[in-house]
Amino acid sequence: MKQYNTINQWIRPEIQQLTAYHVPDPGDAIKLDAMENPYQWDQALIDQWLQVLRGTALNRYPDPAARELKLNLRTIMQVPENMDVILGNGSDELIQMLILSLNGKGRTVLAPEPSFVMYRIIAQVVGMQYIGVPLDANEFKLDLPAMLEAIQTHQPALIFLAYPNNPTGNAFASSDIEQILEISTGLVVIDEAYAPFAEQTFMSRLGEYPNLLVMRTVSKLGLAGLRLGLLAGPVEWLEQIDKTRLPYNINVLSQVTASFALQHYAVLEQQTQQIRKDREDLLKALNAIDSVQAWPSQANFILFRVAEAQSVFENLKQQGILIKCLHGSHPLLENCLRVTVGTTDENQIFLQKFLGTQK
Ligand SMILES: *Cc1c(COP(=O)(O)O)cnc(C)c1O
Repeated sequence: MKQYNTINQWIRPEIQQLTAYHVPDPGDAIKLDAMENPYQWDQALIDQWLQVLRGTALNRYPDPAARELKLNLRTIMQVPENMDVILGNGSDELIQMLILSLNGKGRTVLAPEPSFVMYRIIAQVVGMQYIGVPLDANEFKLDLPAMLEAIQTHQPALIFLAYPNNPTGNAFASSDIEQILEISTGLVVIDEAYAPFAEQTFMSRLGEYPNLLVMRTVSKLGLAGLRLGLLAGPVEWLEQIDKTRLPYNINVLSQVTASFALQHYAVLEQQTQQIRKDREDLLKALNAIDSVQAWPSQANFILFRVAEAQSVFENLKQQGILIKCLHGSHPLLENCLRVTVGTTDENQIFLQKFLGTQK
């Protein structure tokens, strides 16, 4: 039998050191761990959608440029006329394309921390140096002096700013972001995954800075299963980055389904409005508990601190509620948990069971 003892010889050490991105199996738990929109479509809308699928040719390759879908996304996401757009299989794939395009010997990617983990993971996979700059410890603002110093020192090719930030839920001060844009020679990507739940955006400001790109996704909007993200920015940058895109990266089912869903955007918008409203109720309820510190959020989740995060997490899990335990993932997140805003009913059940853990 062939032996596998050459794995150590050939798999790069950076890959061997990684742990695969782990997603727990939810079973039939109430799933409040992954920032999904909990609402489904009504039967009439599902039937209309199935009609669209019936007319879709699976034997043909999809439109490699996804032209129709791009036009629909541009309108819904208010991409400025003179800016270009690239689609990705989730914004995860766009992050990968960005990192692949800018990687090279001595090149660095930089992000504040804690933030979205894929920035670091993808950098490690492709062998690009990654620098994490800690956020301010109290309110998770950008530590601007530390950011500016790190940018001066490392001259990053690429900076990711999640806006609002995951897992902290806050949106960084736009004046801080402006300073970062001004002193950076590399690309600054504003990752607006939570735009449907936030008040502010850099989309309308594309073009003000030559190194500004904006990234969006339909995942948190209610279409996480489709895997569809969008990168918007100046043509000159995007035509380069597009060279790293695999042809046909947006499959035909995603293209036609997303276009269909965007024609019924009002449904998604109504759901996100409900989530925004419920988020405020949930925040109030959490902060009314003495043993809890919950932070305001502009996203569809709430970060909160308890005395014993790990045991609360396990306890809830045993009772059929899956949230995210962030304890141990970053020093600033000691005893922190993150709960996604679910349906109004799910939030009530969560609160009730959570209260039980605080007695
Ligand atoms: C969830 C999330 C993404 C990933 O989006 P996909 O389009 O589902 O790949 C990107 N950025 C941030 C900050 C996120 O929280």
